[in-house]
Amino acid sequence: MASVTLRRLSKVFDGGIQALHPLDLDVRDGELLVLLGPSGSGKTTALRCIAGLEAPTTGDVVIGERVVTHDPPADRDVAMVFQTPALYPHLTVRENIAFPLEMRGVADAQVARRVLETAARLGEGLQTVLDRMPAQLSEGERQRAALARAIVRGPQAFLFDEPLSRLDARLRIELRGELLALHRALGATMIYVTHDQTEAMTMGQRVAVLHEGRLRQVGTPEEVYQRPADVHVARFVGTPGMNVLQGRGRGPGTGGTGGAGAGAGAVDEGGGRVIEAGSLTIPVELTTYEGELQVGIRPEYVGLCAVDKGVGNGDVLVVEPLGSETLVYLNAGGQPLVARLPGFADVRVGTRVGVRVDRRRLYLFDAAGAPLA
Ligand code: ATP
Repeated sequence: MASVTLRRLSKVFDGGIQALHPLDLDVRDGELLVLLGPSGSGKTTALRCIAGLEAPTTGDVVIGERVVTHDPPADRDVAMVFQTPALYPHLTVRENIAFPLEMRGVADAQVARRVLETAARLGEGLQTVLDRMPAQLSEGERQRAALARAIVRGPQAFLFDEPLSRLDARLRIELRGELLALHRALGATMIYVTHDQTEAMTMGQRVAVLHEGRLRQVGTPEEVYQRPADVHVARFVGTPGMNVLQGRGRGPGTGGTGGAGAGAGAVDEGGGRVIEAGSLTIPVELTTYEGELQVGIRPEYVGLCAVDKGVGNGDVLVVEPLGSETLVYLNAGGQPLVARLPGFADVRVGTRVGVRVDRRRLYLFDAAGAPLA
């Protein structure tokens, strides 16, 4: 196994599309790092540059101690698993798994043994279908076979490009567990691309968040959730992501719009310093920031109350009862706001409700999205 390092790696496609801005990333030997970002953020491009399927415009790819930027894919000793399992249709599962070993001239008896060992690592399911053709497999069995083929030769690093996204929810959870177990058993370096932030949070030892081709943050799942590096990370991480409202900070006696619908008494709570955002006027104590800003608050720290009791109000657009919790989507003075409430909440679409926020849980960003100290 080996570390994977990207140094000032960038990619501009023909036509001037900048898929990746120069980025530095260090994936440690034996680490499972998740590359997370919305569609089009450059995740696949980064992975393909590591695999050698795409040539970077600038920068280097280093695997272990070796700069491999200009090496062909076959010389990099990495295994890639794609969203759509890439299996040879005319070979059985057994022959597919054996193929990378046979290409390397491994002796027949050893090939047979390693195929069985590898299949055993991927659940009972795969062992029972070794003599089937890929067309005779379910989607989950196909992806397990592709995983087995990647594992069998013990590469320096594994590259996964959304390998579970085509599977149904139950199978996805099952394979997520199997991949984590594999990671523990093999001590393998794994780079796992996904746009699914639940997958990122549950699988990644660290998560690297890409947005519009820029690497915004690298940190543990807890770090990217609790201390997002900018507004893009804040919005993207979490289900649903953080609420981010456009607003203004206003000190005592500096005028302002007054925040439609806010209780007048609330404005004085923070010594007259407030953030106005949509229909909310949130008293704050810790910031002296005045002027345009963006205020972030996670849905779990938004509560509902009687109109005129909170820091403002909102009109209920959608109610999603999920059993253990209810998500309530509001229009708060022209700005979207989601509240996560425990259990089944008695809230009706089309009504106006008061909004509470936990003022200790606010995140402040400047107009460009950088955090305000
Ligand atoms: P998705 O999750 O949808 O696969 P992604 O985060 O993996 O998205 P990329 O596939 O890396 O994103 O694409 C990043 C950007 O580069 C996008 O704007 C995409 O349209 C563009 N792009 C990707 N491949 C090419 C190509 N071969 N030629 C031109 N532009 C490309």
